[in-house]
Amino acid sequence: MKITSAEFIKSAVWPPQYPPGVLPEIAFAGRSNVGKSSLLNTLVGRKKLAKTSNTPGRTQLINFFTINEIISFVDLPGYGFAKVAQSVQKDWGDMIESYLRERQNLALVVFILDLRRDPSPDDLSLRDWLNTYRIPCLYILTKADKFSNNQAIARLRAVEHSLQLPAGIKPILFSAKTQKGKDVIWLAIENHLSLLENRQMIPT
Ligand code: GDP
Repeated sequence: MKITSAEFIKSAVWPPQYPPGVLPEIAFAGRSNVGKSSLLNTLVGRKKLAKTSNTPGRTQLINFFTINEIISFVDLPGYGFAKVAQSVQKDWGDMIESYLRERQNLALVVFILDLRRDPSPDDLSLRDWLNTYRIPCLYILTKADKFSNNQAIARLRAVEHSLQLPAGIKPILFSAKTQKGKDVIWLAIENHLSLLENRQMIPT
């Protein structure tokens, strides 16, 4: 997709603070430091739309953006940063689960995992919430540039196995460094949105 505009709308914590949900929304979720900001920035071709930093655990809000005036992007807070107190980690979990449960215009969750690491218990909780609330999901494995092609495929299989993904659901390999996977991710997002649009046009 050619990006003509990418606008920050607002930050929120709880549903009453969310902006009106009028556009189809794509939410980006993953553990702290996974490369979520880098992925968002790569997709929209902006260096600093989402803040990238080497200090994990900073982003504690849900950030809403409008892309090309037709899609909403949401940056969910990164979870599972060990140095954050348990009570704060629980707030983050509640914040993310409320969002997934309440947001009516949520069209797709982009679930980001680090290709180098096995899914954490927090990742598995997120996967379970997505299943519970029947939210469509695109799995992205970041930092693919850290591996050769063969190693990357072997890691992809291992992560796939730990996540117990249903047959036919394939994670996409991505690198913010080389931009590998960027076009495939946009294609998957656009395909999903046009599927939704077509479904809404079919009378029931
Ligand atoms: P966030 O906390 O999930 O938003 O993660 P960031 O996007 O801030 O990235 C965390 C760290 O990982 C930073 O040092 C990034 O430069 C690095 N990083 C992110 N994506 C990639 C990638 O695809 N390849 C490599 N090699 N490093 C990455």
